[in-house]
Amino acid sequence: MPEPFIYDICQAGRRAVSLPACDVPEAPLPEGCVRETLPLPEVAEIDLVRHYTHLSQLNHGIDTGFYPLGSCTMKYNPKVNEVAARLIGFTTLHPLQPEASAQGAMALIYDLQALLAEIAGFAAVTLQPAAGAHGELTGVLIMRKYLYDRGETQRDVILVPDSAHGTNPATTSMSGLKVIEVPSDGRGNVDLEKLKALIAQHGPKLVGLMMTNPNTLGLFDEHVVEVIRLVHEAGGLVYGDGANFNAILGIAKPGALGFDVMHYNLHKTFSTPHGGGGPGSGAVGVAEHLADYLPGPIVVRSGDGGEETGDRGQESEARSQESEGGAFRWYMPPHSIGRVKAFYGNFGVLVRAYTYILMHGAEGLRQVSENAVLNANYLQARLRCTYPIPHGDRTCMHEFVAQGKLEGAPGIITMDIAKRLMDFGMHPPTVYFPLIVSEALMIEPTETESKETLDAFADAMLQIAEEARSQPELLKSAPHHAPVKRLDEVKAAKDLVLCYAPGCG
Ligand SMILES: *Cc1c(COP(=O)(O)O)cnc(C)c1O
Repeated sequence: MPEPFIYDICQAGRRAVSLPACDVPEAPLPEGCVRETLPLPEVAEIDLVRHYTHLSQLNHGIDTGFYPLGSCTMKYNPKVNEVAARLIGFTTLHPLQPEASAQGAMALIYDLQALLAEIAGFAAVTLQPAAGAHGELTGVLIMRKYLYDRGETQRDVILVPDSAHGTNPATTSMSGLKVIEVPSDGRGNVDLEKLKALIAQHGPKLVGLMMTNPNTLGLFDEHVVEVIRLVHEAGGLVYGDGANFNAILGIAKPGALGFDVMHYNLHKTFSTPHGGGGPGSGAVGVAEHLADYLPGPIVVRSGDGGEETGDRGQESEARSQESEGGAFRWYMPPHSIGRVKAFYGNFGVLVRAYTYILMHGAEGLRQVSENAVLNANYLQARLRCTYPIPHGDRTCMHEFVAQGKLEGAPGIITMDIAKRLMDFGMHPPTVYFPLIVSEALMIEPTETESKETLDAFADAMLQIAEEARSQPELLKSAPHHAPVKRLDEVKAAKDLVLCYAPGCG
């Protein structure tokens, strides 16, 4: 039975709260401060609880089912992260507290900066940016300021491969720079010849290149080192979009490959519930020559003089000796681009990432990537004969891109397949992205799914392909079992209704 909407069960005078008796003299509120009418639903507490619990159950989440949303890395979030993030010492901190009274949180930030620097092979890290795209903007501003400081103010072009994530060209435009697209070659890599031609044409104007690697086709660029060399040779810098880091943890270090800057999506690679624009962290790592440009403040250890590598064995001793006066302090790098966010980043997300990294250790992180890649390749192999997969002959990384173009089912499009999948209790893959693949279905199972779950998904996809031929109407009218049926996508976007209440529904 569908749950009645909360405004439909109102009874005048019913309340969900009982306030304590007033123990101070009552006084009228100032004129104009109180609304005459405020149409709140009048319901009992149990009705209210049921209403919100019911709403929460309409959502598909990683805790309720398989969520292969490509590029988003919807992995399982260990619940121990939540325990750590809720430790009272963390949750009751105020960001304006004196350094000496926030040493524990600063130690965590310091350690996380160092761990991320080590994992990706960079000299320094800031944890301030609030999301991946924010990290990109930070990175590009760093690149630009570095070049400006060297007097190269004429540089205003960024090359962006067509297999990059959509945020890359968006970031470039936001930074006031010009985007020039670099085409892919037949194997899904950056086309080296076309890149050379573009560099020959724009070389002196080049700020650099932004590269998503592994790219949005789920492929590791086979010429990445050569691409980076060519851009460096032209005096440009190379930005790495590290949101797909889930595929190469403990296997390849972007810093060692030659990337100058990279953002990490802590809320993807290192877990944290995300989606719907919730809090994230787009930490940014840089090579030595850019370390002084990081936004700040970052955390350094007293005596470091801005250096933040150090012997981790001696660290705890130093920490206990100096903790009275404050061993860790805030530090603004000398050529910093400035702050990019209030205070120090989304601290709760940092605690989760830190917990996740320590819980796995170096070996565990490598296993994360090995299993993420294995799972994606397993699915690719099971679907390859039924769904076209451009570059399906290559080993994919943590994700791959199939097409919703089924033989013998000319009327069926990717959207129909995605909607039908919801009837199987699974979240659809990312659809119609990347743009360079028509009818794209971008599938990322992540490392945390079992073989049984992967098989259930592959079976569902194969059954849907069969249905597409034998009873296409079933797909066209899907979903049949979801809380809402097929929406009119255009109307939903153009005529968005965000609230339901008397008079505004
Ligand atoms: C998710 C993602 C981004 C953007 O990250 P947000 O945290 O959503 O801003 C950038 N690049 C790639 C490859 C991504 O998958």
